[in-house]
Amino acid sequence: MFTQKQYIEEGEKVLLHTYNRYKIVLDRGEGVYLFDLDGKKYLDFASGIGVFALGYQNEEFNNALKDQIDKLIHTSNYYYNIPAVEAAKKLAKVSTMDRVFFTNSGAEAIEGAIKAARKYAYSKDGMTDHEIIAMENSFHGRSMGALSVTGNPKYQEAFRPMIGNVKFAKINNIHSIKELINSKTCAILLETVQGEGGIIPAEKEFLMGIKEICDKQDILFILDEIQCGMGRCGHMFAWQEYGVKPDIMTCAKALGGGIPVGAFLMTEKTAKSSLTTGDHGTTYGGNPLASAGVNKVLELFEKNDMISHVRKVTGYLEQRLNQLVEEHDFILMKRGKGLMQGLVLNKEAGPVIEKAMEEGLIVISAGTNVLRLLPPLIINEEQIDEMFEKLKRAFAQ
Ligand SMILES: *Cc1c(COP(=O)(O)O)cnc(C)c1O
Repeated sequence: MFTQKQYIEEGEKVLLHTYNRYKIVLDRGEGVYLFDLDGKKYLDFASGIGVFALGYQNEEFNNALKDQIDKLIHTSNYYYNIPAVEAAKKLAKVSTMDRVFFTNSGAEAIEGAIKAARKYAYSKDGMTDHEIIAMENSFHGRSMGALSVTGNPKYQEAFRPMIGNVKFAKINNIHSIKELINSKTCAILLETVQGEGGIIPAEKEFLMGIKEICDKQDILFILDEIQCGMGRCGHMFAWQEYGVKPDIMTCAKALGGGIPVGAFLMTEKTAKSSLTTGDHGTTYGGNPLASAGVNKVLELFEKNDMISHVRKVTGYLEQRLNQLVEEHDFILMKRGKGLMQGLVLNKEAGPVIEKAMEEGLIVISAGTNVLRLLPPLIINEEQIDEMFEKLKRAFAQ
């Protein structure tokens, strides 16, 4: 058994250096708290980047996974399995979409959405030069297709060429989209609330404007709900606040409650002219274990009325955040929805995050100067108070 320091040293030697990891080894979790190998306790306001919505050691969730492990872990998609059918039915119901394809990650869900959009357009005109409009400052993942629609040149530069025919518009600027639309446009893709880009919600009028263009010209409207979905913004999916239903939607992060799983979903109309037998696949996607996780997560969301809980604590969190903005000159503004909140600082967020960790609080950044709060959805007012105490002490340093 190594010490925490030794594990970090060993990790430094053997893991590829794609992350500047914080110098702790997380060992176990309990509710909304995490413990490192030295036994230090942290209040978790990141939930593994918006993944652990139900908190750690949820007994019902853990038992569902254990039961499934003892029954059947994997089958491949050549056959049906009960958890996948059940999970797809539940996910289709809460999203009001018609068809589900399970993936292993968010990026893989985006890949599927891109392929679905290209196929949809190809089915209509047989052409192979269709264009996708995505947003500047967006984030959709790190695989080549997902990276190609990620509007951040810093992430793309060394890996060019990207997949072709992707154009970038400005979020909340419908004019910038209209300028890029032409007869080759097959899809408009955006996050309903930009996450990595700095917690920037798409406005209602903007979403409605896009939907109108898409409906009129038979262009697919794709919403990435990977971070903002699954109840985080006070609706099962953030778009449901405005009723602007996409043709294709991606989902991941909180979907499996910590089990690596994602999904892309589409309407029946889209599915009819899109991916069909032989067009797409995955060995693991939606395997019985992952699907048992999704199934239980969705069951617990309904049983515990997570959406109502999120809305209730959001009011309190926002009120206290607004107060915090007024109290500190270096906080420029608060941005976000529900339990997906950002504090825009006039300086880098990194040092604040380090200080917060010393105080026993885990928070993350979005971009360089936005402090990002993504607590488990089960967070309560008392724990929110605890977060502010810790954050204020970190600020004071
Ligand atoms: C995290 C994220 C992705 C990528 O998901 P991975 O599981 O890391 O591949 C895509 N889109 C959004 C909005 C995300 O937040």
